[in-house]
This record gives sequence, C-alpha cells and structure tokens, in this order.
Amino acid sequence: MKRAVVLGGSIAGLYAARVLSDHADEVVVLEADDLGEDGTGRGAPQRQQLHALLSMGHTHLERWFPGITGELVAGGARLGTGPEVQFYVDGALKAPVPELRMLGASRPFIESRVRRRVMALPQVRFLHGRAHDLLFGDGRVRGVRYSAADGTPDTEGPTSELDADLVVDAMGRASRLGTWLLRAGWEQPPQRRMRIDLGYATAVFRRGDELPDTVVAHASPGPASGYQPTLSEPGAMVAVEDDRWMVVLAGYTDHRPGRDPADFLARMRRCVPPLHEVADRCALLGDIQTFHFPESRRRDVTRLRRFPGGLVAVGDSLASVNPIYGQGLTLAALQASCLSAYLRAGAAPHAPAWDYFRRAAVVVDAAWQLSATADLAQPHVNGPYPRGYRFARWAVDKLTEASVLDSGVNQAFMDVVHMRRHPKALTRPQVLARAARVLATR
Ligand SMILES: Cc1cc2nc3c(=O)[nH]c(=O)nc-3n(C[C@H](O)[C@H](O)[C@H](O)COP(=O)(O)OP(=O)(O)OC[C@H]3O[C@@H](n4cnc5c(N)ncnc54)[C@H](O)[C@@H]3O)c2cc1C
Repeated sequence: MKRAVVLGGSIAGLYAARVLSDHADEVVVLEADDLGEDGTGRGAPQRQQLHALLSMGHTHLERWFPGITGELVAGGARLGTGPEVQFYVDGALKAPVPELRMLGASRPFIESRVRRRVMALPQVRFLHGRAHDLLFGDGRVRGVRYSAADGTPDTEGPTSELDADLVVDAMGRASRLGTWLLRAGWEQPPQRRMRIDLGYATAVFRRGDELPDTVVAHASPGPASGYQPTLSEPGAMVAVEDDRWMVVLAGYTDHRPGRDPADFLARMRRCVPPLHEVADRCALLGDIQTFHFPESRRRDVTRLRRFPGGLVAVGDSLASVNPIYGQGLTLAALQASCLSAYLRAGAAPHAPAWDYFRRAAVVVDAAWQLSATADLAQPHVNGPYPRGYRFARWAVDKLTEASVLDSGVNQAFMDVVHMRRHPKALTRPQVLARAARVLATR
C-alpha cells in the first residue's frame, strides 16, 4: 500500500499503525485530541481509570513492541507473578497460578511508551485533526475528509482530504462509522447492546512498603453472594509507577461509587484485605475520578451482505465490553494481530476485508461471551440471553467454586479470563472432571 490512514491515535490506533507500518509506505495517524507524548493529554475520558492489562494483552504488547516490558519496569512499573497476583471471589483468595504474570502500570504510562515506539517508526506520521467523513469511490473507501485541529475540537472548520488505500476506524466508542456508511448509501453494521449501568471510581494512593508481595489484587462477587456487588464489594488495586497504588471500585445502578473520599475509604474497608490495608495505611493522592458505563456494545460487520473495501475497524469502535473484566486493551492488541494475519495472507486492501472481520469476530465473541455470561447474573441485566446460557451459568458457577480450591482448575479458568484460551476450553472433559473431583472432596 502507498498510504494507510488510522482514525484515532489511542491504544487501538497505535497498535494498528504498528501493524500497518509493515505493509504501507506511509501510515498517517489522525487524532482529534492532543494526547501528549507522556500520556497526560485529554484523549479518551476513561484513560485515568485503573486499567488492568490481561496476560494475553501483555503477550501481544511484547509481540508488537519487543523489550517494552523491560522499558516499563525500568521506568517504575511492577511485574507481578504467581502469588503477587491475587484474585478473590466472594472474599476468598483463589488458589495461586504460578505461571500468571501481570504488569502493574497505569494506562497513560503504557500508552505513552507505545506512542513513543510508534512515533519512532519512519513510515508513521501523526496528524492532529478530526475526521468528519469517509470518501468513497469504486465500491471502496478511498480516503477521509478531516479538519486540522484548531483548539475547538467539536466544530468543523475548513476541511481537507487525504487519500488512502486502507482506512482504519480506531475512533473508540464515539466512532460515527455507522452514520458515515449510511450517508454514503451503505448499510450500517447491526449493533448488539447489553445495558449494564455500571459505575466506576478510581483513586490513587501513595505506595510504601505496606504490601511488598502484592502487585495486583482483584475482588469480585461470585456464586456464594449470588454475584451481588452489594453483598461482596467488587474492587481492584494495582501497584503502578511512581510508587503509587491505583484502586478501583465498581457498582451497578444505585450502588455506583461516588467521589466522596470518606465513602470510598469505607467501601475499600468492606472489600478484601489488601484494599482494606491500603485504605488504612496509605495517603490518598488527588481527587477520585468516576465514570459511568451504560452498556456493552459491538458492531457485527460479518452479518452484512455488502461492505466497502479499504475499510476496517478496531478497538472500542468494533466492540466495547464491561470494563470490569479488563478486556479492552487486550482486544485492541488481538485485533491488531488479526489485521496483521489478514494482510500477511496477501489480502488486497481495496477489497472488502471480510476475512479480517471474521478473524476479529472470533476474539470479540470470546470476550463478549465471557462478559455477557457474568453480567447476566446481575438482576438488573435482562438480556439478550445467548443460547445455552443456563448451562454456561451453572458450569461457570461450579468452576468458580473449584478454582478457589485448586490451582489446576484456576489455571484453566485464568487462561480464559486472561484471553489466552477461548471460553470453550472450560468445557474440556479434563477441566470439568477435575472441577467435579475438587468439589466432591472439599
Ligand atoms: C471505566 C473504564 C475502565 C476500563 N478498564 C479497562 C481495563 O482495566 N483493562 C482494559 O484492557 N480495558 C479497560 N477499559 C477499556 C479500554 O479503555 C478501551 O477498550 C480502550 O480505550 C479502547 O481503545 P480505542 O483506541 O479503541 O478507543 P479510545 O481509547 O476511546 O480512543 C479513541 C480515540 O479516537 C479519537 N477520536 C475520536 N473521534 C475522532 C475523530 N472523528 N477523528 C480523529 N480522532 C478521533 C479520540 O480522541 C481517542 O483518542 C476500560 C474502559 C472504561 C470505560
């Protein structure tokens, strides 16, 4: 390709730009906000929330940016392994998984290092501006219409056009791809939605030597509490750069955490011991940041009969699921790997990218299946129910109970939670038999 254009320069756009630098003479990343090389710019509103990087996301981060873990650790990130990574369900600590590794770093820190790597690629050029429409011709997208940033990001000033062999939509949840397709006479991809009404709040604490053997602690409600956040306080904390803890609390409907520090600390004390300890011993730094996440949603491009060539979508534009399961960064990385596999297989960029969308649908299905099965356990979430939901619910409950007691079952469970394996791996006879044995002898 002569030129590929990526719309959106956040995490999914950066991964896509890295992949495209192997296939195009020039890659232009068009980003509406001034993100700042150090990651302190405005950007996506959720960037200041705690972001956990799942193990598969970490693997693909290293795949596309070799040596970046060492760079992040040298800059103050922590790398947690085995018992330093603690998962609790209904207040009980799950059996440790020796092989599990998780990176302790804030999202702006990870993203700033990724951005630096992408900026250093000779094929890649960053353009500060907002995309307003796609340009179509000969049954394909042939470029983009955009306005250069002028400090008023939501008003459309004079616009310019940029030709491209391939355009990547990485504009996140705010993407207007469907509207742009409709306007040009194409069908818009059907959207699947699940209303979850989730509230999130993140606080930052000074980190000392209070918990030297903890990098990640994560607490979620499980079968014993009927998955009720009101009975088993969900939360997580991660040791991040600059000697800080990031702590997140979550809740649904009117149990959403707020900005009041006293209330936040009280909720931390109702959560698992590491969060309780940080609340008691560490100083709160700055304000508490809240976020409301009304619904999970995905665009099903593979259900369309017609789609223009020269166009793909990655990241939250394609699928954005309940952030409690920490899948977004990993999905963006996996989709970039799908794009790479698609282009390496010799795809013609001007043709409809069906094969890319089919590959991406496999990872999105996996993430969706996992989060939807868990979300449907909440009384206020009323569908849509996937086929086989009742059996999936029963099996997940049993596996969750067994994973508290047995490292082998927990390993299988964590492989799926961390997207190293497809959820169907949990229905393997060896896993089910082991879980049954563990539960029979407890
Ligand atoms: C509260 C919360 C907590 C989360 N926690 C986790 C977690 O723990 N782990 C995890 O893996 N994921 C988490 N996620 C999900 C994660 O934040 C997203 O999946 C991820 O940000 C998706 O990246 P993206 O690049 O697709 O979109 P975004 O990060 O939203 O970026 C989209 C970019 O496109 C730009 N843009 C938009 N419109 C235009 C335009 N017209 N022209 C040019 N540029 C444009 C925006 O400025 C922005 O920079 C969380 C999400 C939320 C809401």
